[in-house]
Amino acid sequence: IKEVEKMENWLVKRAQITPNRVAVTMAHQDMTFAEVAQKANHIAGKISSLKDCNARVALIMTNNVAGYLIIMALQQLGKTIVFINRRLSVDEINYQLSDAGVTLLLTDDDYTQALQIKQQIRFSDLPDGEPIIPVTAFPDDFVTSVMYTSGTTSQPKGVMQTYKNHFYSAMGSAINLGLSAQDAWLAVVPIFHISGFSILMRSLIYGMRVVLVEKFDSQAINELLIHDGITTMSVVPVMLKQLLAALPDDVNYNSHFRAMLLGGGPTDLATLQKAQLHKLPVIQSYGMTETASQVVALDSADIVKKMQSVGKPLFPVSITIRDQDGQPADQGNIWIKSPTLTVGYLNKPQKLLQNMHDGWFDTEDFGYLDEDGFLYVQGRQGDMINSGGENIFPDEVESAYAKMPGLDDIVVIGVPDDVWGAVPVAIVSGTGLSSDSLRQFGREKLAHYKVPQSFYQAKYWHRTASGKVQRQQFKADLDALEILK
Ligand code: ATP
Ligand code: MG
Repeated sequence: IKEVEKMENWLVKRAQITPNRVAVTMAHQDMTFAEVAQKANHIAGKISSLKDCNARVALIMTNNVAGYLIIMALQQLGKTIVFINRRLSVDEINYQLSDAGVTLLLTDDDYTQALQIKQQIRFSDLPDGEPIIPVTAFPDDFVTSVMYTSGTTSQPKGVMQTYKNHFYSAMGSAINLGLSAQDAWLAVVPIFHISGFSILMRSLIYGMRVVLVEKFDSQAINELLIHDGITTMSVVPVMLKQLLAALPDDVNYNSHFRAMLLGGGPTDLATLQKAQLHKLPVIQSYGMTETASQVVALDSADIVKKMQSVGKPLFPVSITIRDQDGQPADQGNIWIKSPTLTVGYLNKPQKLLQNMHDGWFDTEDFGYLDEDGFLYVQGRQGDMINSGGENIFPDEVESAYAKMPGLDDIVVIGVPDDVWGAVPVAIVSGTGLSSDSLRQFGREKLAHYKVPQSFYQAKYWHRTASGKVQRQQFKADLDALEILK
């Protein structure tokens, strides 16, 4: 029988090792690890005096210090935190609250929506309580966070993440990027997603400063990156685009800035090339909620040579490419073996098992390794369009259109076709566009079978909070759209 390993309480340990180091900065206000530990115990006391508090507590927060301290307090209490995306609709949130079986929800002070839950309390309305004395250690398989996937392809699933998951994730990242006592990581990606929460866990493990930013404002963030000594920032593709658009040609970030960790979805070549002009150290990465953030990332030495690759598996991680029969293949599904892999989806014990094969997790993402072992992600297996025996990836087609003048947005999906089995079509928005000009542009950039056969005028966009395309919903709504003249 395997004995459960114990892990020391990270905040307690960190406050012992480097009490005076800055843990978190927000709006130029610093808080040290000692202060965070003391405040967390105080808030934990308040939370524990509530009667409807069971093993899991739901949290609705933006990236602010109050929410940050609540997270630390819940960890001190040994509660599992269920992270809820504040921007979801009331129905979507109620689904997650009920799926997670929580009775207590803590929210930002300015959150007013009443939800279906026994007790809903704003951070400032917590009652008084005696500070607690936190436990010194946790089992490493303790589920500290539950995080719902983005819901890009289907109903979001509650992913259970353990301390062990977060620990190995932080290790993998540190071995790739290196570590210094001067490091500071800007967190504007939401903390209710793994991209943001993983920064907080790294901060405790590394003793690293987190710079919390509540709202994405490209100019304000560029100012911070130029003047504050920030060394690292996590971005999704749409954020990188906006930062670059707001950055004057002759300006670069502060000289200590060493990693712009990019992931969550595909990035077009034009954006990556623009980043190169600013000597921006863009580190592409690949991962998912199920793997507690990045599991594959570029090494900074390779960012020019392998610009479009997401890199090699991090030190604790292995990957293999398999065909639909589970046999090794040059191109196919990306399978992952990693100590960061979730222990399962909440209330869906079968769901993870369906994707597990001999300890390997089938991500259902499609890609290939080049001759040097670098991974290229081509898209989701379910989005792939098989047209007359040729595979077409919507991401590739959309990326080819990134530089077309007048085009603001494009989404490519497959529709059934009598002759070819399926063909690509596109939904577009922009100014001065015609089907002819779009077709012409595509033919110059892409093999003819990849060029969309029809172009539809967009009425609305189906995207998740982090800007991901929900293709299934476009498919369902296609009949309601008009073909562009
Ligand atoms: P759901 O599982 O509910 O459909 P989701 O898969 O979008 O939502 P996340 O866990 O937030 O939820 O996203 C992980 C997915 O994002 C990966 O499986 C992959 O499809 C995509 N992805 C992540 N990084 C990259 C990248 N660098 N390039 C291309 N795709 C990426
Ligand atoms: Mg997913």
